[in-house]
Amino acid sequence: MLHTDDHTTDDHTPPDPLPTARRRPPRPPGARSEDGLAARCTGCGDCVSVCPASILSLDPDGYPVLRGADRCGHCGLCADVCMFGAIELTARTRAGLALVMAIERGMSRHPGEG
Ligand code: SF4
Ligand code: SF4
Repeated sequence: MLHTDDHTTDDHTPPDPLPTARRRPPRPPGARSEDGLAARCTGCGDCVSVCPASILSLDPDGYPVLRGADRCGHCGLCADVCMFGAIELTARTRAGLALVMAIERGMSRHPGEG
């Protein structure tokens, strides 16, 4: 028996869960929301200068953007140097980052172990 059910719809394109315009550029750890950066970041570039990994630059809006997040040591220097509170690491976040760093160090000492 010929089955002729037609399940086609007008639009098979799945909705983009996060449209490009709303994707957040990679920011340094502790960076405020985009609205927070707009309110606080002056584009002074101090965070860029202090980053020991040289992975920060200013985007066209003058906000810090992270290129090469895998090289970020989560040292927090960019937050320390920001006098405007645009990057702010709470004690809790610092503790979390320290834990991540410790785990990463352990993993690099014992590659393949799990
Ligand atoms: S140090 Fe602070 S105010 Fe200056 S560019 Fe970096 S985030 Fe913006
Ligand atoms: S946490 Fe340290 S390594 Fe990472 S972006 Fe900030 S200054 Fe650079």
